[in-house]
Amino acid sequence: MRTVRTVAELRAELATSRRAGLTIGLVPTMGAFHEGHLSLMRRARTQCEVVVVSLFVNPAQFNDTADLERYPRDERHDAQLAADVGVDYLFAPSPAEVYPPGFATTVSVRGLTETLEGRHRGSRHFDGVTTVVTKLLNMVGPDVAYFGRKDAQQALVIGRLVRDLDMPVRIEVCPTVRDRDGLALSSRNAALRDADREAALSLSRALHAVQEAVAAGERDPDAARRRGWEELQTAEVEPDYLELVSADSLAPVQRIDGDVLAVVAGRVGATRLIDNTLIHVLPAAAASTGNGRP
Ligand code: AMP
Repeated sequence: MRTVRTVAELRAELATSRRAGLTIGLVPTMGAFHEGHLSLMRRARTQCEVVVVSLFVNPAQFNDTADLERYPRDERHDAQLAADVGVDYLFAPSPAEVYPPGFATTVSVRGLTETLEGRHRGSRHFDGVTTVVTKLLNMVGPDVAYFGRKDAQQALVIGRLVRDLDMPVRIEVCPTVRDRDGLALSSRNAALRDADREAALSLSRALHAVQEAVAAGERDPDAARRRGWEELQTAEVEPDYLELVSADSLAPVQRIDGDVLAVVAGRVGATRLIDNTLIHVLPAAAASTGNGRP
């Protein structure tokens, strides 16, 4: 695996592969790799002839400087892990390479970014994400780019971005990787102390409780949500939100029907965590006529 630092070097490295018609896959990351990141890299490795992983802690998407400074960084260890799963290039540019003096452009997606994480972290967050992802896609020119469902809203926003701007890339969204106890893997989990880690479990427990309520026949989102709230309350976690929203539009649902995303975010100690789960309920009309999906 080669580590490259500049766009010019990256383009030069990829030019031959591109001319030879090889499939290029990109996994954008902010580093501090865990099995979630590695699952994306492995997926890229099975589907693409050339795998590029970008490692860039993007200052533009942090709404809080303390959070940016606290963000875990260990490039040497990351490089070892990426090499072990067979990544070809680790693209680790400096902030000045990505945002040179005079940088003045923002790529902004409306609608999907205005709720949930956008509402709680401010519009700067998703503007930072969509701007850097646009740049990374332009720098690498991949055929496929891999994102995790763990950040479900981000994945939807990126899907919207590439459709709206006719970007010639396929977006593949990969399943959330969890610890055995259910905690969704996150680079931020490293900051959790023992008691915090226990409390952090309440997020996945809350989603599970919502899912169980739906499985038992509950179709009222408020009632299902209350089951999740109880888990958070027991752990004394005050969520930023726990919502049931449409898996396509992220609009709150009036009734649990079709593909619904249960989403949760909250602060555990100093660490802000997010999680989600997709709930599929046979649409009411289809269920009654027997025409629903299995
Ligand atoms: P990050 O480094 O946190 O920006 O994440 C880089 C990519 O890895 C994003 O597409 C995330 O959605 C994805 N990712 C993060 N955590 C997980 C996880 N537990 N399972 C699957 N993908 C993940």
